This record gives sequence, structure tokens and C-alpha cells, in this order.
Amino acid sequence: MLTLATLLLLSSWSAAVAEWVRDARPLMGTEVSVHLWSDEPEAGQRALEDVFDEAARIDRLMSTYKDESEISEINRVAADRPVAVGNELFGLIQRSLDISVLTLGAFDITYDSVGQHYDFRSRQRPDADTVESELANIDYRYVRLDRAAGTVCFQKQGVRINLGGIAKGYVVERGVEILRKHGIENAIVTAGGDSRLLGDRRGRPWVVGIRDPRNDGQVAISVPLADEAISTSGDYERYFDEDGTRYHHIIQPSTGNPASGVHSATVFGPDAVFTDALSTSVFVMGVDKGLTLIATLPDYESIVIDSNGNVYYSDGLQQPEAESFE
Ligand code: ADP
Ligand code: MG
Repeated sequence: MLTLATLLLLSSWSAAVAEWVRDARPLMGTEVSVHLWSDEPEAGQRALEDVFDEAARIDRLMSTYKDESEISEINRVAADRPVAVGNELFGLIQRSLDISVLTLGAFDITYDSVGQHYDFRSRQRPDADTVESELANIDYRYVRLDRAAGTVCFQKQGVRINLGGIAKGYVVERGVEILRKHGIENAIVTAGGDSRLLGDRRGRPWVVGIRDPRNDGQVAISVPLADEAISTSGDYERYFDEDGTRYHHIIQPSTGNPASGVHSATVFGPDAVFTDALSTSVFVMGVDKGLTLIATLPDYESIVIDSNGNVYYSDGLQQPEAESFE
């Protein structure tokens, strides 16, 4: 029989071991972080390591910065002959092409024929002639998938693909799946601007901050969420300013130049792969077209900050009191 003293001891013991575990690593050219609640911290730590391993594995497969990645092989030879690709990469390319159709070409993984000429750290950008000639290689319809053969090919020399606008969403979605298998029920997995939340923060929602696009380190809007994904695309992530123009990493496929008119686009909903691609898409489409698209997707909502600092909410969101006038 348990005595009262034993019971007290047991309850204080279990309170001492269950705890929040968190860590962050530089991965995929950004920071990947995991924050989880575990009844047993050592098991929590193992779950967290599995998520980082998974992010590194996906990066080895999908990074255009790694010569040995499957995607680099595609970019080297797919214009000459069909290349066999694994199911995972095939699936993500397929989803990217579907999202291109949905966004009328705003989301386009072939942006990279222009994108490859940028190096934001060394303030390098393509000149107007390069943009013009590479623009001819931007069109997702040049990417052909053969499901039966499991191959991808490009219909034009010079076409390149890059999954930078969707791969981080995939990483956080996979990360949460792994945590679920470990029995974790409350967690947040983040890769750069993409987060996937598992459960809530033990009785309270997670609160995700949308950055003030022009005030480093300041939060413009806080969004309480549980069991959802949230992605933000901003012109402050990778950029340099030159003669009053901001050159950043989100390319308008119709011009080959960085998209203008928006400072940041946030999308939330059930699936991080989709919120990642949609945040990039809404950024490219601009406030009106972007929010019109979001209105057609019942489970997804969006908050856009335009280049004048005005904030726009999709129809399904209630505007905070402070933002409504009169
Ligand atoms: P972040 O990488 O900061 O999370 P995004 O999710 O918006 O931001 O992704 C931006 C990345 O998407 C760029 O760095 C580039 O790799 C890729 N990209 C840029 N323009 C496009 C586009 N029009 N369609 C698809 N991907 C794009
Ligand atoms: Mg994105």
C-alpha cells in the first residue's frame, strides 16, 4: 500500500522529470529549432535529435548547394535525358507543380535560373541582360514528370529547379510526424520562417510572432495557434539594399526580378508544406490577388504587410480591436 509520504514523493518526482526540452541547430541555410514537452527528458532529447537528423537528411537530398544531392543531379542532366528520382523528391516536385497551377505561376520552382545568379552575402545580383536571357528558362511547364517511370526531365536547356520555397515546410511537417511517433503531444518545430505546431502549449495556445518587417527583433503581430502550421515569407530574410532598391530572395517569375509591393506574407493552416509554398505565393501575388486566392482555401488564412506597412487580413480572420477604425 502506498503511504501518503510515498505518494507525495512520487508526485514531486514526476513533476521534476517532465519538462520542456528545446534546442536549435544551423541547418538548411537557416536555423532549425525544436521545442517539446516530454514526460521523460532523455526520451525527449532523443526525439529532438531524430528531428535534426531528418532535417539534415532532407537537406542532403534537396539542397542545390550540395553537388551530390539528388536535385543537383536533376539540374545537371534533366535537360538532356529523364532522370530517375526517389519517391520523396518526386512527390515534392509534383506538389510544387500543382501549386504553380493553383497560383497561376506565382509559385514556380524554375525561378532558380535567375535565382542562381544571386549571392546575398556578397551582394551579388544578375545584370539586366542576364535576367532577360534567364527569364526565358522560367516556366514550371518545362518540368515534366513521368509517374510510371519515376523520372523528371526538362523540356529546355538552361532550366533549373530549387525547392527553397517549399522544402522547409516539408522538414517541419516531417519533424512533427517523427515527434508524434515518439509519443510527443506538445511541440513546435521551426525551420526559418516555417513552423509546425503539435498540440498546444499544455493548456494554452502557442503564440507565434510575425516580425515587424522593418524593425529587427520586433514582433508586429502575435498569433495564438494550436495544432497548425504557420509560414512567413519576408523581404528581410535574405537581401541587400543598393541605391534605394531592396534585392531579396523572392522572385516574381513573370519579370525575373524580386517581387515588390509586399514586406511580408504569412499563411497558416493544417499543412506546413502548403503554408510554406503559399506564403511565398501570396508574397509574389500581392495583397489583392494573394488574399483572393486564400479566400478559396477554406482551411487557410493569411496576414499580409504591404510595402507601406499596412496590414491586411484574410476574410476568415477577425481583425484585432486595435486595428479596426471609427
Ligand atoms: P524563407 O526561405 O525565408 O522561409 P520562403 O518560404 O518565402 O522564405 O522561400 C523563399 C525561397 O523560395 C527563396 O529563397 C527561393 O529559394 C525560393 N523562391 C523564390 N521565389 C520563388 C518563386 N516565385 N516560387 C517558388 N520558390 C521561390
Ligand atoms: Mg515559403
